[in-house]
Order: sequence, then structure tokens, then C-alpha cells
Amino acid sequence: MTSPKITVVWFRQDLRIADNPALVEAAQRGRVLPVFVLEDPETSGESHPLGGASRWWLHHSLKALANDLGEMVFLRGDARIAIPKLVEKSGASAVFWNRCYEPHAIERDSKIKVDLKASGIEAQSFKASLLFEPWELETQTGGPFKVYSPFWRAAQKQISLSPLPRPEKLDMASVSFGESLDDLGLLPTKPNWAEGWETLWSPGEKGGFERLTAFLEDGLKGYGDLRNRPDLPNVSRLSPHLHFGEISPLQVQQETRALFGGEGGLDKDAGKFIGEIGWREFSYHLLYHFPTLPQANWKPAFDAYPWRDSLEDLVAWQKGQTGYPIVDAGMRELWQTGVMHNRVRMIVASFLVKHLRLHWHHGEAWFRDTLVDADLASNSASWQWVTGSGADAAPYFRIFNPMTQGAKFDPEGIYVRKWVPELKDLDTAYLNAPFDAPDAALEKAGVRLGETYPRPIVEHFAARDAALEGYKAVKQAK
Ligand code: FAD
Repeated sequence: MTSPKITVVWFRQDLRIADNPALVEAAQRGRVLPVFVLEDPETSGESHPLGGASRWWLHHSLKALANDLGEMVFLRGDARIAIPKLVEKSGASAVFWNRCYEPHAIERDSKIKVDLKASGIEAQSFKASLLFEPWELETQTGGPFKVYSPFWRAAQKQISLSPLPRPEKLDMASVSFGESLDDLGLLPTKPNWAEGWETLWSPGEKGGFERLTAFLEDGLKGYGDLRNRPDLPNVSRLSPHLHFGEISPLQVQQETRALFGGEGGLDKDAGKFIGEIGWREFSYHLLYHFPTLPQANWKPAFDAYPWRDSLEDLVAWQKGQTGYPIVDAGMRELWQTGVMHNRVRMIVASFLVKHLRLHWHHGEAWFRDTLVDADLASNSASWQWVTGSGADAAPYFRIFNPMTQGAKFDPEGIYVRKWVPELKDLDTAYLNAPFDAPDAALEKAGVRLGETYPRPIVEHFAARDAALEGYKAVKQAK
């Protein structure tokens, strides 16, 4: 009797068992050998390597997946060498994977496919992390979309609703080759800045599904308005689960539709929520069609912007020491938990590129290192969106006032008090501008500006004027 064929399933940003086309196809073919390859940015050609927070998440997500599968090979180095070597060691006759869309991944995967096929190994890739392949949707004139609304309108007409179930049976193959998960060295050690994160997050497929269920039960109602409130629990916090593919957008959509869809389509809050998944799709569409999005201004006129250079201001921003409480709260939430609420991301990003006039590359890099949901497509597209240099972007002259933004979206100061505890006793009326508070109010709250909490590193109105002055160069370059 011949033994069943072995298929290597190369996991990347699809760290789940359900709705995993590569795994389903491999299971139907015979025995399955799951592998993860940690690439070395030196050799992989990755322009934007994994940040520290993402590495922490990845470790725990892989651990959960390996436990669920009961088998997993871990390799390190160049995937173009590691995958064929695994094929050779295991006697596999096929390699299946789900597609990634980062420019270096597309190039790498195409090469690997050609090499494998040339040596008689079956190689197949599948769609698993997006509702639409970036090339599936096009404008009426046949090009890529550059504006979100028509993109999403076109997408909604074509959405199909059938995530795959978990394979009924998984017959695992094994091989004595590779390293242990710990050997990949993904976790921080000296210091372990992620201590306690296990209580905040549950990386893995089970954690992703539980998060979705909890959000649909308790957070979705009112999402349309309340999603802007960092002091309220009305966002899903699914982004890292989606980024690592622990849950698929198709599953999110189907579960949402099952609970909140009717004859007339999704209800208002659910429609808004799925529309945000649409922004994720749009970001990938942009990255695929404009692969320089992570590096170059999408609108070249922004090359003329006179960016400043100030390490001191950059560090104050990174550490949440700008003297603007809503900005500082966001940057500290990010450092301490690995995420930041979307509204606050917009405020802190605007502050960096407009008030401080520091290049969005600095912000993109810091977010990439510190976010557990760091995602090349969404991060690059969003930074360019806030800057005004991106597709369908916020106009440059819309400069967020951190004081009014704080008062509007955190009206009782719950969010600021949580992350900037040195201001917790300050009267709400002064919480977003402690520098304008009367001495008595500061004294009563135990706040000494410049000592217990920084004075503002820039003055809002002067910074705003300087930003607009700088924008003149962009207007001239148009
Ligand atoms: P929800 O409001 O519950 O939204 C549901 C899902 O939709 C999210 O999980 C996410 O996958 C997607 N989504 C929501 N908003 C956006 C958006 N504007 N663009 C793309 N997808 C979106 N998101 C990332 O996933 N990774 C990033 O690296 C990233 N960097 C950002 C940088 C800046 C400067 C800004 C302004 C936004 C960035 N975002 C990024 C988008 C957004 O802030 C997060 O997706 C969102 O805060 C995640 O929280 P949530 O899961 O609770 O979102």
C-alpha cells in the first residue's frame, strides 16, 4: 500500500484552522505538514521588518496554532531555501499556502512557486486574508480604485458569503527537522517589556473568535457613533487577530451578518463596522497597485514639504511627553498595551506630521515597532491618509486641535486619566489643556507643570500656522 501524499502547508498570515483554503485542500490531498518560516530581514528583502510587539503576538499565535494542529515545523532563514529543504526532508510532493500581498512577499512567493514547479513539486496559493484579491475589483475604466467609497460600493455588490469549515479530518505528517518555537527568539527578554500582556490579549484562533463574539454581543450596538470614543468599549479590537489571520474577514462578515443582517441588508452599526473592514481591503488594494506606498508619498507634491528634524520632539512624542494630554494618553496606551484607539491614532499622527512637522516615516516606523496589529498596508495607507499625501486622504489643512478633540471624544476625561495618571485629579474643564489651568486648580490636583507633567513642546496655534506655511510648498509643487 502506498502512503498518502504529504503536502507542506506554509503558514504566514493565516494562523487559523477554519476558513483556511490551503489547509483544506492539503487535507483532502493526504497528509499535512504545517510549517512556519521566520525570515531574516537581511536576506528576505523586507523593507519593513516585523516590530517587537508583532513578534510577541506572533510567538503566542504560533504556539496556539501548533497546539491546535498537534504538529508544526519551525524554520528560520530564507524561505526560498528553507521550503525546498523541508520538501526534500519530508518527501512532500506539494506545497500550499495562502497569499500575502506585501511587495517582497509577492516577489518571494512567485520565485518559490517557479522553483518548486521546476523540480516537479506541486505549488498552489489561495485567497484567505482578504474578501477580494486586490486585482479582483477595478474601476469602470479598468484601473485600480483611488477613492474608498466607489471601491467599497463595487465590493459590496460582489461579496460572497461562504467561509470554509474546519477540515473534518487532519492527518498530520511529521519530520525531525527544524527548531523549537522558543528558538525563533520572538519574545522580548532583557527587558521583558511585554510582561502582563497575556492578561490583555489572547492571540490565536480561539481568542480571535471569542473577541468577535464578545464584540457582537456587547460592543456593536451604537458602534456607528461610539467607535470614536476611546473611553468606551465600542470597537472590536480585532485588528491583530485579523492581521495574523487568526480570523478571516469572511468569517467576521458572516458572523456579523448572521446576527445583524436582515432582508434590507446590514443594520446601520453593522454596516459601519463591515465598512471598516472595507478600509482594510482598500489599504491592500492600494498597496498592491502602488507598491511604493510604504516609502514614497502617494501624492508626489508632498516631496516638497519642508519637514523638520528633531530627535528631541520625536522622543517626546514616542514617550507620551508632549504636554498635550490626549496625545500623551494615546502614546502611552500604545507603549503599554500594543494598541491605540483609532480616533487617538488619528490625533497623535496629525500631531506628529502637522504640529511637529516630522516626516510620517518616523510615525510609521514607531507604530510598526509598537503595535500588535502593525500591518504594512493599513499602517502605510493610514499614515499617508493623515498626512494628506495618500489616496482619498484627509486634506492637509484639516489640522486636529488636540484640546478640542480630547474634550469631544473623551468628554469626562476617563481615557486621559487612565493613561496620564499624574493628571487624574485635575478638573475636567482643564484636563485637555493643563497649561491653561489656573494655579489653584493645578495645585489642588497636585500638578506641577514642567515637573510632574510636561509643559507643551509646541504652542498649538503657532504650530498650526507653521504647518500651513509649510504646506504652501506642496501647493506650489502641484
Ligand atoms: P474596529 O473599529 O473594530 O474595526 C474593525 C476592523 O476594521 C479593524 O480590526 C481593522 O482590521 C479594520 N480597520 C478599521 N479601521 C481601519 C482603517 N482606518 N484602515 C484599515 N483598516 C481598518 N490598522 C491596522 O490594522 N494596522 C495598522 O498598522 C494600522 N496603523 C494605523 C496608523 C494610523 C496613523 C491610523 C490613523 C490608523 C491605523 N490603523 C491600522 C487603522 C485603525 O486604527 C485600526 O485598524 C483600528 O484602530 C483597530 O482597532 P479595532 O480592531 O478595534 O477596529
